[in-house]
Order: sequence, then C-alpha cells, then structure tokens
Amino acid sequence: MSDWKTLVTTCSGLLSAGTEPSSPSRSSKVVHIIIDGISQEFFMHTRMRTCRRLMREGISFSDCTTIWPSLTGPAHTAINSGSPPAVNGVNRNFFISEGSRHVVNPLKESRVESIAEILGSHGLRTAGICGQMNRGLQYYVSEAYLGHHAEHITRAAIDAWNRYSPQYLQVVYFAVDTIQHAFGPHSSEAAETAHWVDEQIGLLLDQIQDEHVVVLISADHGQASAAVHAEEIDSLLAGSSAVIESHGRFLLYHTDSPTVDQELAGRLEQLSCVQQVIKPSDAISCFPDDYAVVLTDGYSHYQQNDVYYRWNHGGLSNLEMQVPLIISGSCITPHVVSDAVSVLDIAPTICELLHITPPETMQGQILTNRTELPEEHVARS
Ligand SMILES: [Zn+2]
Repeated sequence: MSDWKTLVTTCSGLLSAGTEPSSPSRSSKVVHIIIDGISQEFFMHTRMRTCRRLMREGISFSDCTTIWPSLTGPAHTAINSGSPPAVNGVNRNFFISEGSRHVVNPLKESRVESIAEILGSHGLRTAGICGQMNRGLQYYVSEAYLGHHAEHITRAAIDAWNRYSPQYLQVVYFAVDTIQHAFGPHSSEAAETAHWVDEQIGLLLDQIQDEHVVVLISADHGQASAAVHAEEIDSLLAGSSAVIESHGRFLLYHTDSPTVDQELAGRLEQLSCVQQVIKPSDAISCFPDDYAVVLTDGYSHYQQNDVYYRWNHGGLSNLEMQVPLIISGSCITPHVVSDAVSVLDIAPTICELLHITPPETMQGQILTNRTELPEEHVARS
C-alpha cells in the first residue's frame, strides 16, 4: 500500500473510533458545505472568519477548477457525481423541449449515480439541505421549500444532524449567488451576504462538533460581469439558418450544414465579445449537436423573455471557473495545496473518507492522498 493510502486508511480508522468494530465506516462522517456562486477570488478577498479558520486548520486548495458550463445544475451534478457533464448528461439547468414546449429538467436525468445514491447503497445515512442536484438523499429538505435564507438553511441542517444522524450531510447556501446576480461580486451587499453565510456556517459547525467529522467547503462557480448584450453575435448570425439557444454567458447554435457551422465558428471567434467557440468534437464539449459560443468577461447573450442578469456565470473566465476548496477535520494536518485540482475530485474524496471505493463513473482523484497525519495520530492508530 502506498504511503498516502496508509495515511488515508489511518485517518479513516481514527474517524471510526468508538463504534462497532464490525462496521468501522459507520462512524466516519462528512459534512459537505457548498457556498453557491463564490469564486476563489471573492472568497479570498472577503476574508470570512469561519472559512479562514477551516483553511488554517485543514487542507486549503488554491487552484480548484469547476466544470464547464459553469451553471449551477451541471456544476452541482458534477460535484455530486464526480463526473463531467459529457458523462452524466446534465449540461443545462433546464430547457424547453422544442416539439412539446414542455420544460425539461435534465437534473433528474443524470446518467450516473449521485454520491447520495452510492453511499445509500452501502448502508450509509445521507441527508441534504440543498437543491435537487443530489439525487437519492434519504433525508432531504429542498431549496424550493426553504428558499435562500441562510438562517433557515442552518436551522434545517442542525435539525437533520440531530434527528437523523447522517454519516453524510450536504448543506448548500445559495444566498451569495442570489445577491451577486443583482449587485455583483464586488458590492458591499455581496460581501455582507458572504459574511452572513460564513457566520451561519460557524453556527452550524458549533452544533455538530464531533471529532469524527470531516468538513468540506466548496463552491460550484463564481460570477463574471454580464452587463453588455453581445449584439455583434446577433448581427453575425442574422440571416444564417442557425438555431440559437442562449444561456447568458454562452450560447449554443447549430445549422443543418456542418460546413456552415464551421464557417460561422471561424467568424464568431474574431469577435472581441467571444472568448472561445467550443466545437462538438472538442474535449470540453458536452453538447454533441451544438457549437458553444463562450463570451468574454463583461458580455452576455439573451433571447426574448430570458431572465436578464448584469452578473452571471456559465462562461470560462477565471472568475467563473476558479472556486475555493477546503477539507478540514481533527485528523487532517493543515497545509496548502497549490496543484491543480477539480470539483470532480470531491465525490471520490468523500467516498474514500467514508471507506467506500469510488465507482468508475467518478473521474476525479482522491484528494486526501495529500493528507498528512500528525505524528501522535499515526502513533495512536
Ligand atoms: Zn450556482
């Protein structure tokens, strides 16, 4: 067994102390908190007290990237499954079926198991105060019921902890994202909201203090400016036969002709409002039938009746793609990891912490191989 695997096993063994020896994983616990919509830049700039403490006491990753498209539904699904949108099939928050005009929600239609489904199938107790992107939670209080009020979310999370004793609890705070859409990431309103959420995380952790708990703090995406509608794109595509689907910070198009699609891509790439055109065959693509036009920071593209945001996400800018990640617990030696990691690494890491072998659908790496235990913990085990 490699050194890091020894360390992880030892760490998990420590987490298991004090319960039936026949089921050691039953006493390991993971609390995964997602602060929706907070970029690494905003996170570091805001200096949130509880999160800073967790950084000091745990492993702090300085280069964590989310998936593209940096939209809430696809990003949460990727985090919760350890698989990218091209694999799990969740590439939009929802869309309206052209033929039936029905709203289709692909979040329910992930092709791979969620972390909750996997842990549940191994007999672990799972709970979530979150959106619908973590399918299969046994104890679930929906964002749709609670709204985005951080205090309500904390109260529901403490209730879940006390009433259900989950080995895995996911808590998602949406307020920072909600406020940024209206006021922007550099506003006093956004900073105030971040501090409010941070305070609530502190209250939650106070209530669930337990030496067997490992806490992960992460985010699904950040936000970029989206103040200017990319009119040049409309001018360029006007008169073409392209079918367009706008998603704010990017849009999709296709025509009936691969030659025309390719020719349009070449012309779109010349526009200053376009950061990148992603072809269906590109590795990052998760849209097999569409070209994706990703916009430069500052631009957005909407169609009639779309909800308009001055700040938004979905693009490839660092502000949207770079997110915080912290793993903290009594058995973890504090240090900073500057290697590039991904939100896809979160689910396999949670599996490892809970003694479950990550399934093959999880494409990320186990991050606790970067964990170094203090001498006394190694000696005691
Ligand atoms: Zn989000």
